[in-house]
Amino acid sequence: MGLTGIQIFKYLPKTNCGDCKFPTCLAFAMRLAAAQVRLDACPHVSEEAKKVLTEVSAPPIRLVKLGMGDRTIELGDETVLFRHEKKFNHPSALALLIADNLTDQEIEQKIQQVNNSVMERVGQKLRVELICLQERSADPARFAQVAKKIVASSEAGLILSSFKPEMIKAALAETAARNPLIYAATEENYSQMTALAKEYKLPLAVFSDKGLEALSSLAEKVAAEGVEDLVLDSGARSSGRMLSDLTQIRRAAIKKKFKPLGYPTIIFPGEGGGDALMEAARAGIGIMKYASLIVLNSIEKEVLLPLYTLRQNIFTDPQQPMQVAENLYKVGEPNQDSPLLITTNFSLTYFIVLGEIENSKVPSWLLVADSEGLSVLTAWAADKFNAPKIAKLVKKQNVEEIVKHRKLIIPGYVSILSGEIEEELPGWKVLVGPREAANIPKYLRDMTSSAAL
Ligand code: SF4
Repeated sequence: MGLTGIQIFKYLPKTNCGDCKFPTCLAFAMRLAAAQVRLDACPHVSEEAKKVLTEVSAPPIRLVKLGMGDRTIELGDETVLFRHEKKFNHPSALALLIADNLTDQEIEQKIQQVNNSVMERVGQKLRVELICLQERSADPARFAQVAKKIVASSEAGLILSSFKPEMIKAALAETAARNPLIYAATEENYSQMTALAKEYKLPLAVFSDKGLEALSSLAEKVAAEGVEDLVLDSGARSSGRMLSDLTQIRRAAIKKKFKPLGYPTIIFPGEGGGDALMEAARAGIGIMKYASLIVLNSIEKEVLLPLYTLRQNIFTDPQQPMQVAENLYKVGEPNQDSPLLITTNFSLTYFIVLGEIENSKVPSWLLVADSEGLSVLTAWAADKFNAPKIAKLVKKQNVEEIVKHRKLIIPGYVSILSGEIEEELPGWKVLVGPREAANIPKYLRDMTSSAAL
């Protein structure tokens, strides 16, 4: 539809009450027109206006949910092309492909690989979210048996992959409650696949490798039959075509509001040939350029770690550095004689420093200063990590009642602050710690063995 902000404004109450967190109804209307807010943020819209505005307020890329409970995976619901405009909402979900013609032992190993894929980085738990069960056996009973086994052995989300409706039907009898994605409707099978998706109320992938026009036309036909939760596969398997198709789909959905391509996308980076590193490189393209679901053949740690890191970087808000709360943190079981270190609240800094203190095995106190998410040197340069602030924080956190000694270890990069801090905190001695966090364990061990505290 594409109403302008002014057109939308005519349907709003015009009371400027601010309940939507915008100062005026006009400001809210402008954001709604740009699909940057949801209509339900205004609780005062009349039913009549809602009818008109629902379409314009719908995200240009539909929100599709897979899985159950706290392992629900949300895809799509994006409103911008670039992350500097607004934070991307839903990270690309990773899946491991398991073929049903593998041996039971191989299948079990792969399921456990997914279950053990959890890694913690800057306080977030990262994992492979789904298993994609691919039918190669041509045997509905085998496909259903493996699907049942996956659901029993893992809480991961599930993709049931076969172009044969009878295979999907057999597996759904065992797994529909997990809310899997059915992959995939094609020009040949879409009536039967759509019927299954409707019967079980499940999302459905749509596949066409005959160009984006054919893909959008197929998506329209499936939607017309009553299945709206779709995921698109353009059949692109080479890096170049993958990048081109994903970008065109996203641009058509966001810029042109072209509804038949306004759905999340799925890619198979391992199917374009090459080794595991080539697969990882294609997956990286998918993370950076709009793939919602990425199905991998291999999830060895050397492939996963860079993908996790890339995904975390792309799907954070570039305008809001990741940060932890200002506080005095215990590392281990410190007492009143334990070392006291200070750092800033940029998540990456905090978790690196925390990890190195833990490595030292020296129970310690870690004072974290609110630097608005900046790392130590940047915060110092921006005057957000200075002597008055540090002194104020020491008092605010009642540190003098918690530690008996009066020694504060500051990061080596801001050794210049030591004199000023001692002036701000009479009776305290400032110790200059290592510049690099990697040297903290040795520093703390040397300090405690020499009884410097
Ligand atoms: S909550 Fe609704 S009525 Fe109030 S300012 Fe926002 S748009 Fe206007």
